[in-house]
Amino acid sequence: MKIEYVCSICGKKNVKLWRPYGDSAPLICAECAEERQTPMEYTEVIWKKDEGYDDRWTGTPTKNKKKLPLPKWKVDEMGRVPTYDGPGPEGLPPTMTDQLIVDLSNVSKAYSSGSTTMIPACPDGDGNFWCYTVVPEDVCKWWDELPTR
Ligand SMILES: [Zn+2]
Repeated sequence: MKIEYVCSICGKKNVKLWRPYGDSAPLICAECAEERQTPMEYTEVIWKKDEGYDDRWTGTPTKNKKKLPLPKWKVDEMGRVPTYDGPGPEGLPPTMTDQLIVDLSNVSKAYSSGSTTMIPACPDGDGNFWCYTVVPEDVCKWWDELPTR
């Protein structure tokens, strides 16, 4: 059995697709995900540089654990968006993730929470998808090389 590798929403083919964590449908492309991204918040953090041999940054939540909204993301060429942890210390590039948190409430009855975590959809060739943590290297590469949009 072969998976139809098509965006469930717009029907786009030959682009990177994501699936809900632990499910095989719906499949969603980067552009449909961008339109449906769930507004996310992060806890405000005070950064302090450890005076050690590796000068690591440590973030401590502010006393009142203030929540701040994260800006909207765009999926990059590699299919990544900034993590939902909020901005890092000054001068350091943001950490990226391939998990997209989206609102599928108008797409699927099974995912009506408004906040669904989507992971790269990597077909295993037998009609299923590889588990997030065990995708073989060649399949990862295949997914990475698919156009994002
Ligand atoms: Zn789409």
